[in-house]
Amino acid sequence: MNEIKKRYYEILAKRLISNLKPHNIEGYYFENGNEAREFIISQIPRQSVVGIGGSTTVKEIGLLDALRQGYPNFYDQYEEGISLEESLKLRKASLMADYYVTGTNAITVDGAIVNIDGYGNRVAAMIFGPKKVFIVMGVNKICFTLQQALERAKNVAAVINNLRLKTSNPCVKIAECTDCDDVESICNVTTIINRQPSKGRMKVVLINEYLGF
Ligand code: SF4
Repeated sequence: MNEIKKRYYEILAKRLISNLKPHNIEGYYFENGNEAREFIISQIPRQSVVGIGGSTTVKEIGLLDALRQGYPNFYDQYEEGISLEESLKLRKASLMADYYVTGTNAITVDGAIVNIDGYGNRVAAMIFGPKKVFIVMGVNKICFTLQQALERAKNVAAVINNLRLKTSNPCVKIAECTDCDDVESICNVTTIINRQPSKGRMKVVLINEYLGF
């Protein structure tokens, strides 16, 4: 990103962070993924039980590797070679973790956090269970309106996720959601998080880079 674009997104991200405050959600701004990763690691004690929600951004900024290397009680649902059954067990256990790290499909400038999930474990943990939740994202996830955020979650994030998972759902042929009602659909739950009941649990980490999808 050039300097002008960076400046644009910095202004937007900082405006979003100030809008999160009255919703009992903390916001943090970082210039790049390395700074964000080091910040998150510094906030999670090494012996903590840590869960993770599906997120390309968490991988891209090196946070997944850092959790694997430094946290003996990390519930790694991405671990290579584990069965779906084992992965689901880890996702379930993560609902009771001390810390939960994940990404998001979209967020509005007003602070609404929008997601579409297949199993629902990621959004369930965001909403209730883990003591602290870090939601990590690039500035490309920022939308102006709730309608745009829902569109983004459907027509960008969900469609690319279908491509990643090599499904045969109709969206992979036209690069747009058709609102299918297919048994193979990975879009079973849509959530909008507007606020938190208590301060200090949820932290939104905004990175001035294009990350995830
Ligand atoms: S077409 Fe179906 S699977 Fe694809 S994004 Fe839409 S609801 Fe999800």
